[in-house]
Amino acid sequence: MNLAHLLQRMARQFPNRAAIFHGTHAVATYAQWAQRSAHLAQQFQDAGLQPGDRVALFMHNHPRYLEVMFGAWWAGLAVVPINAKLHVREAQWIVDNAKASWAFITSDVTADVTTDTGEQLQGLQRVIDVDSPNADDLWALPHASDKPPTKPIVERQSDDLAWLFYTSGTTGRPKGVMITHRNLMTMGLAYFTDVDAITAQDTIAYAAPMSHGAGLYAIPHLMAGARHVVPASGGFDAAELFELGQAVGPLSMFAAPTIVKRLVDHAEQTQQTAEDCGNAFKTIVYGGAPMYAADIQRALRLMGPRFVQIYGQGESPMVGTALSRFHLSDTTHPEHAQRLASIGVAQTPVQIRIADEQGHDLPLGEVGEVLIQGDSVMAGYWRNPEATQAAIREGWLFTGDMGCLDAHGFLTLKDRSKDLIICGGSNVYPREVEEVLLQASGVSEVAVVGAPDPEWGEIIVAFVVTQLGSTVTAQDLDTYCLKEIARFKRPKRYELVDSLPKNNYGKVLKTELRQRLAQP
Ligand code: AMP
Repeated sequence: MNLAHLLQRMARQFPNRAAIFHGTHAVATYAQWAQRSAHLAQQFQDAGLQPGDRVALFMHNHPRYLEVMFGAWWAGLAVVPINAKLHVREAQWIVDNAKASWAFITSDVTADVTTDTGEQLQGLQRVIDVDSPNADDLWALPHASDKPPTKPIVERQSDDLAWLFYTSGTTGRPKGVMITHRNLMTMGLAYFTDVDAITAQDTIAYAAPMSHGAGLYAIPHLMAGARHVVPASGGFDAAELFELGQAVGPLSMFAAPTIVKRLVDHAEQTQQTAEDCGNAFKTIVYGGAPMYAADIQRALRLMGPRFVQIYGQGESPMVGTALSRFHLSDTTHPEHAQRLASIGVAQTPVQIRIADEQGHDLPLGEVGEVLIQGDSVMAGYWRNPEATQAAIREGWLFTGDMGCLDAHGFLTLKDRSKDLIICGGSNVYPREVEEVLLQASGVSEVAVVGAPDPEWGEIIVAFVVTQLGSTVTAQDLDTYCLKEIARFKRPKRYELVDSLPKNNYGKVLKTELRQRLAQP
């Protein structure tokens, strides 16, 4: 089933209900949202786009995100959400790899600080800046009314591609994760079973990037006919969210642990009571990176029982495990402390097991790779059968996360088998950064690792061996990175060293570098 039917259904049942807000300003009812999406669908079709074709969204959070996403689905197309923090050249690589036909952008993504002129995306049939007056023809409804659109939805099978999401790749290039309509339907339903009940009176706020899991939470909130709010700032601003929550909330939202911490800091600094917090926020779903037990305890103490943890990954979006509001608050349970440090139990639609490298089950309590099976797991990597075969074996997704299960089904993550660094909820593969730094003049060798950090979870540190006679400085390297990669991937620290520790085969011993960083 095509997900666009969810929107059509709501538009038919509740045409006049306010659906999309920009800040406190209502910008679309359910009928208008559906009309605009259907109208966009018509224009995709008029331009010759065929079912299965791709439309890229290189946009910061914007109310039109939802209209474009559902417009593409209405026409049977797939969306390619691109992290708005990427460098234009990185976005271009994704657009080319996905062979996207159209791209929707917000003007700020291409007005990049690194180039005075701003680089534009190339090779597309059409690039639409959603803020530009030129885009208005796409939104101008010929017969605007309160009626839901009559334009039929292009039928799609549940296993057809809906969302082509690019994750950072171990090889330095991102891989397109093929997420189907079934995957997203499963994710939407699992929100109700494992995260929270949603009613039409609820409000989801998009404070984290809509190109990621936060944007996907539009689906369960659409299923319930709830309200969708894009903060006027387009992102996270604690004071703004508190005010917005009072005005149009209480809000539900997804946030990485770093953001939760900032929200809690704000609650403390501005002396909000748990009751104030309850008026502003209904449910804060956190995940995407490890949350320290002390941080969640503090969050619960200051903001009340409004947290739920989820664990998932691009390859099984938002669906893996969940640590419920109940378990987080069950303080008298003898294993409460361990549970707080865990990521909860398997969400309803999936099975989870822990296996060794060959995929054999490990006994309870032993640390191995986390494997997931179920209807949320991706169809595979886009045009990359080798990577797909490595990730999905005999129907199980090998997540690359290492963890152990207890007798009650709680999963605790211990490490990652992949080399990934998660900085403030954003994933960075060291290889990507290393490849860039190796091209900087005066650099001979590089090893990039993550170092624990109380604010960001991890920060990126580059160990750099310079060429003989080179006078390259950390500042030069930073300037170089700024020109070549997304800002959030730049190392926060550079250690200029004479040599890198290596084993007999010449492989850099990153564990040793991490240990060096852990020393005071
Ligand atoms: P992404 O594909 O960007 O969603 O990143 C997924 C990765 O983030 C997972 O494979 C984990 O390593 C990490 N992750 C996701 N959720 C959690 C969580 N609740 N706690 C710890 N790490 C997490």
